[in-house]
Amino acid sequence: MPSPSCDIASLIKSQARSLGFDACGFAAAAPVDDEAVARYDHWLAQGRHGCMQWAAGHRDLRRDPSLLLEGAQTVISLALNYYPARLQPSSALRVAYYAYGRDYHEVLREKMTLLSTMIEQMTHCATRPCVDSAPIRERYWAQRAGIGFVGRNNCLILPGKGSFCFLGEIVTTAQLPPDEPCTLTCGDCGRCVEACPSGALQDEGAADCRRCLSCLLIENHDDELPDWVGGAIGRRVVGCDECQLCCPHNAHAVATGVADFAPTQAVMTLTRERIEGMTGGDFRRTFAHSAIARLRLKTLRRNAALGQDK
Ligand code: SF4
Ligand code: SF4
Repeated sequence: MPSPSCDIASLIKSQARSLGFDACGFAAAAPVDDEAVARYDHWLAQGRHGCMQWAAGHRDLRRDPSLLLEGAQTVISLALNYYPARLQPSSALRVAYYAYGRDYHEVLREKMTLLSTMIEQMTHCATRPCVDSAPIRERYWAQRAGIGFVGRNNCLILPGKGSFCFLGEIVTTAQLPPDEPCTLTCGDCGRCVEACPSGALQDEGAADCRRCLSCLLIENHDDELPDWVGGAIGRRVVGCDECQLCCPHNAHAVATGVADFAPTQAVMTLTRERIEGMTGGDFRRTFAHSAIARLRLKTLRRNAALGQDK
C-alpha cells in the first residue's frame, strides 16, 4: 500500500484551503468504535430517528468505511462554512441558512471531485468522495479527524468558526498521517436545550427527530404533522436554526466566501401566497438548484399552511 509522505498530507490540506474549505483533517479508516456504535444503536432503538428510516439502514457500511472503498486507509473530513452574509427580510417565510443558496450537494461535490482528482494524481491511490451519498458517520469522522466536536445541539462545532458548516468526506486508500481527535466539549452550557422551540434536545444524547422541527419540516412528507407542530414552527417553512443561532460558538461566525450560498431571490421573497400559487413547474424551475427541491411542493405547501405569522 503506498504511504504518501507528510509533504503530500500538507499539500492536500493546502489544496483543500485553496478550494475554499474551512477545515480538513485525516483519520485512520478503522471501524467506528464500539461506544459510538452503541450510542447510535440506542438512539435507533428508542425510535428517535423518527421518520428518517434511512438512518436505520446499512448498519455494516456505517460502521466500517473499508466497505465503502476496498482497501480504505484514511477518511478525510472536510468542512465548508455557509454562514450567510445577508439574511432574509422579516417579511419572508423562514428558510434555514443551509438552504439559502445553491444546493450544497452540488457545490460540495464540485469542490470534492476536484480535491479527489488531485489526491489521486498525487498519491496514485483510489478515492471516494461522499456528500450525503453514502452511509458514513460524518460527525464521528470529523471529530476523529480533529476538525471539531459534536455539540449538545448535535451539530459539529469547529472551534473558532462555529457550526454553520457543511460536511463532506473523502475515503481514500492513501495512508495519510492521522490528526489528533478533537476532545473539546460543551461543558456545562445548555443554551440550545433551552432555546429549542419543541423540546427535541431535552434528554441527553442525540436529538429526538420526532420532535425536531428541522426533521419534521424537511424529512417528513406526511400529509399532516402532529397538531403541536403548528404552535411551534412560527414562520419557519424549511428547517430550523434555533439551536445553532443561540450557540456561543456561533456568536462571531464569519460570513461564507462562497458566492453560491448567497440567498436566492426566491428565498428573499418567499411568502405563503407565493407558495400557495405555485404549480409543480414553478416549483421545479424556482428551486432547480436549491436544497429546497428535496422537500417537494406538497411538503412546502403543508409547512406554509401550518405556520403562524409571528
Ligand atoms: S433544529 Fe430546531 S427543533 Fe431541531 S433541535 Fe435544533 S432548535 Fe430544536
Ligand atoms: S449552545 Fe452550548 S450546549 Fe448547545 S451546542 Fe452550543 S456550546 Fe454546546
